[in-house]
Amino acid sequence: MNGSPLVSASTRLLAILGDPVAHSRSPILHNAAMRTLLLDGVYLALQCTTEACPSLLRGIAQAGGGGNITIPHKEIAARALERSSASVQRTGACNTYWFEAGQVCGDNTDVEGFSQAAQSAFGDLRGAEVLLLGAGGAARAVLAALCDMSVALVRVQARSPQRAAQLAGIATGSATRFEILPPGASARADLLINGTPLGMHDHDAWPAQLADVEPGTRIFDLVYRAQETPWVRAALAAGLQAVDGKEMLLQQAVAAFRRWWQRDPQLDVMRAALNSTD
Ligand code: NAP
Repeated sequence: MNGSPLVSASTRLLAILGDPVAHSRSPILHNAAMRTLLLDGVYLALQCTTEACPSLLRGIAQAGGGGNITIPHKEIAARALERSSASVQRTGACNTYWFEAGQVCGDNTDVEGFSQAAQSAFGDLRGAEVLLLGAGGAARAVLAALCDMSVALVRVQARSPQRAAQLAGIATGSATRFEILPPGASARADLLINGTPLGMHDHDAWPAQLADVEPGTRIFDLVYRAQETPWVRAALAAGLQAVDGKEMLLQQAVAAFRRWWQRDPQLDVMRAALNSTD
């Protein structure tokens, strides 16, 4: 950084809090973007328990920092904020936090991240029928984005139907119908979305079998890895249109960067960092 130390007494700490968190590409994206713009910040990945997350988040923010929240802490993070964006209030989940005007603030940039990635992959989804697997923090953001896109129907399938039922309020007042699909049941869909962590690790089961998926069904896997996830690879091999979570990661990161620094990151720098093998 122009001969000055990379980290000094004035350096701003940004951190992603999660468990696990070692897989996250966010530090690579954000450190590259900050370096290019000569911003005095450092972005770390900190593994923490659900119990520790609220105090850690508040402490980092109150020290002038900020960061992201990942699996499985997005819902507890939403409850730790002093000022919540409309997206956080709507989804009950927070993925981005910072300090502003004496308050710990939070937003859910996964909503716009998913929206932009899905529309760039699949175009206009108005009227589509969607099957959403999982009912955690990310699924909440995806459901909100799908309602904004005026899809006709979202069926949520999760191993805990009770947890799936808690998402119903997100669709209230929208033109999108909300249903719960019991575990083990199947349903046709124009768009099949994996909002569970299945696929992060080599030994994971697939989020859903592809054998019964109708031709023309599009696949969106929120999970991302250095290469495409095995599920996405199999879907592409079966002739389906399929994308992993990398573009969503990039788009939510751009939005988060704006919240922390009030300026745009260089998208090409972030994209190159995401695709690097570091
Ligand atoms: P979360 O809040 O922990 O929710 C995970 C959901 O998946 C829950 O419904 C959970 O069910 C379910 N689940 C967990 N393990 C499962 C298993 N073995 N089999 C079936 N269902 C399982 O996590 P999250 O924050 O929503 O994140 C989910 C995934 O999306 C993570 O892999 C995350 O990295 C990814 N993500 C990617 C992006 C991106 O930008 N690409 C953004 C957000 C999230 P229970 O409630 O029963 O535990």
